[in-house]
Amino acid sequence: MSASNFDVIVIGAGITGLTAAKHTTQQGLATASIEALLFGGLVININELDPAPPGGHVSGTDLASNLMLEITELGAATLSETVTALARDGDFLSVVTDAGQHRARAVIVASGAKLKRLGIPGEAEFEHKGVSQCADCDGPMYKDEDVVVVGGGDSALQEALVLANYCRRVHLVHRGARFRARRHLIDAVAARANIRPVWNTVAEEVLGAQMVNKVRVRNVGSGQTTEIPCAGLFAYIGLAPDCAFAPPEVKRDADGFLVTDTSLQTAMAGVFAAGAVRSGYGGMLTDAVAEAETAAAAACARLGKR
Ligand SMILES: Cc1cc2nc3c(=O)[nH]c(=O)nc-3n(C[C@H](O)[C@H](O)[C@H](O)COP(=O)(O)OP(=O)(O)OC[C@H]3O[C@@H](n4cnc5c(N)ncnc54)[C@H](O)[C@@H]3O)c2cc1C
Repeated sequence: MSASNFDVIVIGAGITGLTAAKHTTQQGLATASIEALLFGGLVININELDPAPPGGHVSGTDLASNLMLEITELGAATLSETVTALARDGDFLSVVTDAGQHRARAVIVASGAKLKRLGIPGEAEFEHKGVSQCADCDGPMYKDEDVVVVGGGDSALQEALVLANYCRRVHLVHRGARFRARRHLIDAVAARANIRPVWNTVAEEVLGAQMVNKVRVRNVGSGQTTEIPCAGLFAYIGLAPDCAFAPPEVKRDADGFLVTDTSLQTAMAGVFAAGAVRSGYGGMLTDAVAEAETAAAAACARLGKR
């Protein structure tokens, strides 16, 4: 079991975590960036970021790779481990992972969130057999097919537009009577002849044999059910925070997102939270970067760095 001490440990290497680690390392603090999966988090499967980052169009993977390169060159320790617990240890904070235990004087929780599942029959059974949550990676497999996208926010519309580049028709199933997305996405969807909004409707069951061949939906007003023949189902119905390792002392909101003060410190002194894991997060990469900078600055100030 390995054990090491750092000034700052950043949990999660999505855009928030990588940006925070960059700032604390630049301030001369010994920083560890811990990531359970692939660095980059939610953006790694997004080819076209909206809005495009400063400097022009880069994919999510490129954005994350550039940041990863920067923090590595700055001297941050990058650890491929899964954080399982966080606790106070005297003047330090102890971060327990599947590979060992680390200690730091400040911790920035940037463990983000995961796309929610619909939780309907057939969804798990047809995972990778038509059920996906990655339009950019799997879209080309649905060339000239019909697919169902569930959701009515930015992600659902953005990903429906990606799928519309490949598919014969995208059925955009939304439980409301209007989308909650940014105006330009709503306009872009309206302008695509092969995206069909299905209003006031929820998905009830994924059906198929070897692969998905239809999705049963229900109109929430009339209660009437219909089946939409399709080869794929993509659900974008919001995010669930990824922070089971944080102790109860770190307060959550009703949906489980971590609550912070304006300096992004949680109820546990020395533990900061930023990005998609945080209650009140704005949802865009610009918010991720701004929050990472705020949390890093607060962690630096706590450790006597300006
Ligand atoms: C489909 C979709 C499209 C989007 N498109 C855009 C867009 O075009 N423009 C835009 O501005 N925003 C977009 N967003 C939003 C943007 O992707 C997110 O707001 C941002 O990526 C959040 O970054 P994050 O670092 O806070 O969290 P995440 O990206 O979730 O990163 C968290 C990281 O922490 C890791 N982690 C979690 N738990 C642990 C643990 N226990 N131990 C170690 N590591 C852990 C995860 O593996 C992950 O890598 C999109 C979001 C989605 C879902």
